[in-house]
Amino acid sequence: MVEGPTAKAYAIKINKEFNGEIVKDIIVKTFRRIHIPINELLGKRFINADSLGKNIILFFNGLAIRLHLMMYGAIHIYNINEDLLKPEKFVRLLLKGCEKKLVVYNAPIVEIDKAEELVNRLKNELGSDPLSNNWDRNKAIENLLKFKDEKIGIALLNQSIIAGIGNILRNEILFRARVNPERTIKSLTIAEIENIVDTCEFLSKEFLKMKIEGKRIGPLLMVYNKYNKNCKVCGNKIIFYMQKPINRKTFVCTNCQK
Ligand SMILES: [Zn+2]
Repeated sequence: MVEGPTAKAYAIKINKEFNGEIVKDIIVKTFRRIHIPINELLGKRFINADSLGKNIILFFNGLAIRLHLMMYGAIHIYNINEDLLKPEKFVRLLLKGCEKKLVVYNAPIVEIDKAEELVNRLKNELGSDPLSNNWDRNKAIENLLKFKDEKIGIALLNQSIIAGIGNILRNEILFRARVNPERTIKSLTIAEIENIVDTCEFLSKEFLKMKIEGKRIGPLLMVYNKYNKNCKVCGNKIIFYMQKPINRKTFVCTNCQK
């Protein structure tokens, strides 16, 4: 599952490996969200990649491609004559440069547009992103407070409040902040909300560090997929349920998380 840190790690990898390439050929196997003739990308130089929430954006002089990988998407960069690792039927986007080719498999969203329009649309949809240079802690707190009747466990997955938090992060954030996911936002103290928001930033950055180093995030997980294991803080059993109505896997130490 791609959460903000995975998207950011992909952007960093693409910057390194696809650096300076000029688009010689492009194949797109999806037609929704293609707002400009794709031939406009031919001859354009790849400038850089960045992430916004769970989205990865590739920038080319004035144009941009947005990728959202959801559960099963992946991006591979190959030398130009190298064979693809997966069958062609899984390819959603293929960008050929001079020395490298960038291949996107299975991504449910491939969007192509003028860079400014694409970025503005995304910024309007998404809340503040803890991994962006424009991370705005106060804006994140303000956004949460607009959803007073919402459960905190549900609000954290709402990308318009804070961008980039997925299911693993939200479970781990609420454990560290010692808050039960069923609490409504209006029941939280300001100190608790600040702590949750700061933990969003801290843990997103910790996850990113591991991803950049190519390590597994396993050692950072205190509750996720730890059903019936002992809590590392108090020793109580971790419980598991599907939080309603979003139906997402939820892990809680009811002793630590009030
Ligand atoms: Zn505990």
